Amino acid sequence: MAIKTKLSRRNFMKAVAAMGAATFLSTYKSEIVSALKEAGDYWHINWLNGAGCTGCTISFAQAADPDIVEVLTSITVGDSKLPIALPDYMETIHPASGTLAEELKERWAHGEPGKRILIVEGAVQEPGWCEIAGKDFREHLKEAAEIADYIIAFGACACFGGVPSAKGNPTGARGVKDFLKEEGINKTVINLPLCPGHPDHLILTLAAIMLGIIPELDQYGRPKAFFGRSMHDELCVYRPYYDRGIFATKPGEEGCRYKIGCKGPVVHTDCALRKWNNHVSYCVEVGAPCLGCAEPGFPDKFSPFYDEIPGLPKILGISPTTLGELLLVGSGVGIGVHLGKRVLSKGEHEEEEEE
Ligand code: SF4
Repeated sequence: MAIKTKLSRRNFMKAVAAMGAATFLSTYKSEIVSALKEAGDYWHINWLNGAGCTGCTISFAQAADPDIVEVLTSITVGDSKLPIALPDYMETIHPASGTLAEELKERWAHGEPGKRILIVEGAVQEPGWCEIAGKDFREHLKEAAEIADYIIAFGACACFGGVPSAKGNPTGARGVKDFLKEEGINKTVINLPLCPGHPDHLILTLAAIMLGIIPELDQYGRPKAFFGRSMHDELCVYRPYYDRGIFATKPGEEGCRYKIGCKGPVVHTDCALRKWNNHVSYCVEVGAPCLGCAEPGFPDKFSPFYDEIPGLPKILGISPTTLGELLLVGSGVGIGVHLGKRVLSKGEHEEEEEE
């Protein structure tokens, strides 16, 4: 499918990486809306729920700008004039139930012309733990995945197993991609992790797909546009504190959250740029540490949540903790200058030693 918008594929993803959905849509709305109108195909969405808390549904339904009403009424696609994100089947919120609901799923699969997008929320468990309409969730997922043109795993559970796969994992919970691979279905799964998934990520990924742009993915199947940058090195607004060795050690204290367990140094996500709740703040900004929900292995890999990760990266060859102590002690200008020289010479010295 050709892109009708003036935005190139590369620029489209660059722009969505740098902006929230609202800014992106308001900046490029006319181009996007006209491109979507010419998208031609009918798009049908099937949203399946496996093992999860339904928080990703709530996150999506509470999208603020564009809000869910705008998403369902003003951003329409192709000749169908259907909204960009109106699932044909979504058991958690659609009004149909029982046989009628299952008919909707069947119609998504076989009854309508056009492209099919499968969105999965929640992890996949061993047989018997999740049954819908007398059929195991795994069977529903396999059937839908086999005929879907595009598959999106939304939220940490669908991507990598998330909380349902935590230590012990009695139900054998795992991510959609791993499950499909075991079943011999080797299709691309676009992973949009976080706990819950971010509505911007989903809406912008749907827009990209409908415009014929498949986002470039990283080694974990995540769009690089959203998950290609280090939270700690590139985006976190608390980084200046870290660089000066100023750490919060209890809730409400000023400083970088490293010492209360922030996993930012090993996490790739744009939370610090995109933010949450109508782009107001993100976990670190409200006083909590980043818990690593963008990464495979969450939650066990980052547990205990409130402990420091070992191996704090150094600044000029010296640990930020030591640097912070030195700066605190050196309250006089002369002492500060002396310490600065010491830090710099130590950094240079260590760099020489490393060489
Ligand atoms: Fe930000 Fe956490 Fe890195 Fe501190 S450790 S700068 S709070 S990401």
